[in-house]
Formats: sequence, structure tokens, C-alpha cells
Amino acid sequence: MTTLNQAAASPIIDAARHNERTERRLTRVLPLVAWSVRADGQLDESAPYGGFLKDISADGVEFELHSESPIAQSTFVIGVECPDSVTRYAGISVRHRSECANGTRFGAAFDGIANSVLEERCRKPFLDEKLFQYRLPFPPTVYESWEAAGILKRSVLDRVMLCPRCRSVPTFRFACRNCRSGRLDHSLLIHHFPCAFVAPSTDFERGEDLVCPKCLTKKLVAGTDFEFMPGEFTCRGCGWKDQDLEQTGHCLNCETRFAAHQAAEEELVGYDAQRLDPLALLSIVE
Ligand SMILES: [Zn+2]
Ligand SMILES: [Zn+2]
Ligand SMILES: [Zn+2]
Repeated sequence: MTTLNQAAASPIIDAARHNERTERRLTRVLPLVAWSVRADGQLDESAPYGGFLKDISADGVEFELHSESPIAQSTFVIGVECPDSVTRYAGISVRHRSECANGTRFGAAFDGIANSVLEERCRKPFLDEKLFQYRLPFPPTVYESWEAAGILKRSVLDRVMLCPRCRSVPTFRFACRNCRSGRLDHSLLIHHFPCAFVAPSTDFERGEDLVCPKCLTKKLVAGTDFEFMPGEFTCRGCGWKDQDLEQTGHCLNCETRFAAHQAAEEELVGYDAQRLDPLALLSIVE
């Protein structure tokens, strides 16, 4: 026996419903706010316009903005008050416009610079391969203006250690604490257990054999007769000898070497946004 629920789950009926959904139009108007966006991506300093979303599809929107005089701008970010009380944002560029009772009516597509700023890849810092610096695709003033309007929300993604001189990304190594060179020789010590003698391993080498220079015991066996111990580092750059090394940064941009504790610590900041998904909106309004 086929119940109603089973019928609803059939692929044919699902496909029919899907078509109906993508063809469907907005059944009621929704309030929106529209900020004009300049060619460089920054929000226009003038107050945003109020208006209504009239229709929406996967490609674009139809909306009205209220104003006393005709509206000339062509690039906007719109914030639509969705029925679930969340304001969602979309970047658009105007394709056609006409005068209406309270102002201007627009047809617009989801593209242009306002749409780009909202794209996820433009809201996260990336590593500039020339300068080895983290940066966002647009200038900071763009994000600041969108954040001030409440469209973007600043979010700390990570903390990174950078060159204290130029803020580029360094590599790190353990290096000579005198000249910061990583060109080092590391001696290995042998500790002979029975006589407690400790000396560089080279002092024990007699051809193929290991012989203790102090007590003259031959054929020493590792683990049973002796242990290896870390010896001193000798810097090939400056001749400095030391038991310990210092964690050292090397900037990939300006080539400065610095002690790791002197690195500039910086927050990597990105921006979150509630983006307007046309098809999701149509299903909410149902
Ligand atoms: Zn050195
Ligand atoms: Zn010995
Ligand atoms: Zn640097």
C-alpha cells in the first residue's frame, strides 16, 4: 500500500516540486536596506536607502528604494529582513531601473564589486607570495566601512609570529645565539660507564674499534659499556661554542634574523557575513 508520505518521497514528484520552487516568485514583499557601494568597494558615506524586496531568483533581485529624488547609483549591498528575523546581505549591480510611486524600482544581478566583497574568499586573509605578508584582497578601509554598517563581523582566525621589522612571514630554526647562523657542528660525547670518563666520540675512535682513552678498555659496546650524550655546538660562522641554541627567525622578505621571542605577534582577522541565499529565502517565505 502506498501512503501519502511515500508518494511525496518519489523522485518524480520531488523533481516537479524542485522546478516549481525555482520558478516560484516571492509571495510577499520583504523590507530591505540598501547601501550604495563605491567603485573601490567602500560603502558610500551617505545614509542607506530603505525599501522593499519585490522578487528574487537565483540570478538577481527586483526591489524598490524610497527617495525624494531619482537614485543614480548602480552598485549596492542590500540587507533583506528575512521572515526568520535574520538580516541577510547580497551584493548587486543594477541592470535596469524605473521610477515608481515612492522612489526608484530596480532590477539587479548578483555580481560586481559589492558581490565580490561578500564572497567567502574575499573575507579571509591570504599569503601574498611576493611580500610573504598576510592580507585581505581589498584595502582595510573597505572592510571597516562594511563592518561599521553592521554587514561584516570581524572575527579573529589565528595568531601568527611575524618579522618585527617588516611584518612578513619568517621561518624558524635553532641557531647560534651569537651570530644567529644555522651552520653548526654538533659534537657527540661518549660516557664510559665503568670509569665515568666523558669525552667527544672522536677521542674514542681507534680505526673500527672504540677504546676508552682513560681506562684503555677496548671493544666498547653502546648501551652496555657507554652512552652517547649531546655535546657542544660549534658555529661555523663565528666559532662560538655553546651547549644550547636559540630559536631564531629569518624573515622571508627583508632577511632579518631575530630571536623568536622578538617576533611580532599578530592576529589574523577575517570577516563573517550572513549571505542571502535566494533559493533558501524562497523556501522560507513559502
Ligand atoms: Zn655564530
Ligand atoms: Zn673508561
Ligand atoms: Zn622582515
